Amino acid sequence: MLPEYAALRKRCTELCWPNTNEAVFTPADMVRLDDAFYFAEAAHSTNKPRHSGEPYITHPVAAAQLLLDIEMIDLDCLIAALLHDVLEDVDHVSEQDICTRFGETVGQMVVGLTKLSKLNFATQELAQAENVMKMLLSMLRDFRVIVVKLADRLHNMRTLHFHPKEQSRLRIANETMLIYVPIADMLGIRLFKEELEDIAIRALDPHGCAEIDAWLAADKAQRQIFLQTIQNNLRNHLSGRFAESGVHNNVHVEGRVKSMHGIYRKHFTQGRGFEEIFDIYAVRVIVESEEECWAVLGWVHQIYREIPKRQKNYISSPKPNGYQSLHLTMVGDDKIPFEVQIRTWEMHEIAERGVAGHWKYKQGIDARQTGLEEQLARIQELIDSYRDADSVEDVVAAIRSDISPMEKVYPVTPKGEAKELKLGATVLDFAYAVHTGVGHRFAGAKVNGRIAPATYQVQSGDVVEILTTADRDRGPSRDWLQVVVTSQAKTKIRNWFKKERREENILTGQKLVDGEHRRNFTLLDASQWEDILARVLDRKQFEKSTAAATRLENFYAALGYGGLSMQSFLPLLREEYQKIVRQQQEVKLKKITSDKGVVVQGIDNCQVKFAQCCHPVPQDNIIGYITRGSVRDAQLRPGGVTVHRTSCLNVPHDIPNSPEPDRWLQAAWDTNTASNDYLGNIIVHTNARTGLLADVTGVFKHMHVDVSSLQLFPQSDGSSRICAVIAVHSRSHLDAIRQKIHAVKGVTQVEY
Ligand code: MN
Repeated sequence: MLPEYAALRKRCTELCWPNTNEAVFTPADMVRLDDAFYFAEAAHSTNKPRHSGEPYITHPVAAAQLLLDIEMIDLDCLIAALLHDVLEDVDHVSEQDICTRFGETVGQMVVGLTKLSKLNFATQELAQAENVMKMLLSMLRDFRVIVVKLADRLHNMRTLHFHPKEQSRLRIANETMLIYVPIADMLGIRLFKEELEDIAIRALDPHGCAEIDAWLAADKAQRQIFLQTIQNNLRNHLSGRFAESGVHNNVHVEGRVKSMHGIYRKHFTQGRGFEEIFDIYAVRVIVESEEECWAVLGWVHQIYREIPKRQKNYISSPKPNGYQSLHLTMVGDDKIPFEVQIRTWEMHEIAERGVAGHWKYKQGIDARQTGLEEQLARIQELIDSYRDADSVEDVVAAIRSDISPMEKVYPVTPKGEAKELKLGATVLDFAYAVHTGVGHRFAGAKVNGRIAPATYQVQSGDVVEILTTADRDRGPSRDWLQVVVTSQAKTKIRNWFKKERREENILTGQKLVDGEHRRNFTLLDASQWEDILARVLDRKQFEKSTAAATRLENFYAALGYGGLSMQSFLPLLREEYQKIVRQQQEVKLKKITSDKGVVVQGIDNCQVKFAQCCHPVPQDNIIGYITRGSVRDAQLRPGGVTVHRTSCLNVPHDIPNSPEPDRWLQAAWDTNTASNDYLGNIIVHTNARTGLLADVTGVFKHMHVDVSSLQLFPQSDGSSRICAVIAVHSRSHLDAIRQKIHAVKGVTQVEY
């Protein structure tokens, strides 16, 4: 028998359930396990050895051993780990063979693992995000599959240096960092996460890591003495205190130097000098009960001084992955700071093994089960929010912002429950994170006891109380889509509108579309307008096989609840519009000359001015207004033409019935003579954070846009409005600038 398997087998037979002498695995279980090993060994006997030179079977056995190491004590899981590569790498084994021999559950797990390993994690962001989603979806069916996958990946990472191709090593390391590390973190399996991260960073930046190694090696002996001294001091002092208080407690103290990736992140990513990293040394104190944690907190202060404002209480406010501990930063006489983590054994179990720690106790201790269920519910919610997303782009954005381990804040509920949100999330996002129903009935919020606006950006440690309306039927407002930043909250709001208000959505959408017709596509009658709408929907592949009338309704409804934006249809609409208008204009605008790139119906040598109220630019629909000429002339003669956008408020809706219908003339852009510089208008709504104006003007500068005027108007609600007149060459140019501005943090809306 392979020695690695013999060791695994021995460990399995020794395992007992907590607080009992009952063996975890029965003799019958061991027969199944052995069967799986011999089956896998035979199946892989034809495979080439691993890059390390070892027989292939050592890999699945190592993966199973890793599961035991994190105490993922589940027979199906161990068997699936032993069999995880047989479908992929062996031709003569089928899914059916496995189901018949090892049961449906194991069969499905192995199928899931095979699918996961076949996913092609290409380098494009998109492919990666989609794959992450598939992984999450498969996790929902049986999250043990992901834990096995993580074990598989960890063993592959441990043997990564045997891989002969540098290119492949980098790809695998990068993939580990982007996908497996965040998932291990989400499941709270620190033992896996940290090792994956450390091996990956060493592969990705060997030089940076060598620098850290050299720095650590320089005073290695001193470091060990330092850590040892603190541990001894703490152990002696705490045991003494426990003995005095009559508790016979074997207080456990352990110490370590921060992980490679942890130091790397602080030093290279956050740019801190080595001596500025306060938690390079961590000492862990593990006790029996939560009360003892608080006692230890006090006793630690008797021998060391605390560095203020660095204390974190994850006991009252656990991290979303279930992590609990007290963290404080202390210093002794030698002025070297170190972190002290205080936790119970139970917290320690979850901190190290995460969801696997819960799993271990699923049959032993009922109370733990609720933690597991909460964890699974959270994962389920995350997946649901991706499933309902309207486009792949949304999914990519959602996954990138939600899974990325950086840039998170942890505000807490009045009960002390922490919610993980991305940086920049508002109290409204928080309300939705608490519960969908709380979000929908949001009426206001108190942050740290004070009323805060819905747009307030929550910070770690903020105590956020959500006030809700008693009216159960009241739902969200469409404006909220501008306030929330997390994809989950956006999806929840949209879904509400999608489900609850179809009729209203259709009307809202129709209004939007009609408004667009009236403002920017005036030269078309109703049937022409419907024609070009249909053509654009075709081109956008919108519900191609649906009947025309239903399709239009669905389109209106989607616009209405915000699932689609009118904005994304405008470029194609304009394009189609131009095709029609060009034909019409050739007939209508007979006598023309052009000035400043504008032709006006029926006027010679007209002088064109652009209206200051609406700043038209090429691609806008425009209309001319005859200004008065010299007063000395008795006759009214055109002195020139002011060009407005047709959507301008100063243009009458119903020109034939307006006071001076004859002064309004058709006008259009002459693409041949249109020059480069037109003054466009842009209005930016912001939440008035410091430095925001500089960021906005930075966009102009970066895009080489000349600014001819810029004004800032503070609003009474604490927000502000920036009005800028800038030189652009067309509406699409202005659109592009608008989009860039919209991406600036703190910008809530951009109009023009
Ligand atoms: Mn494998």
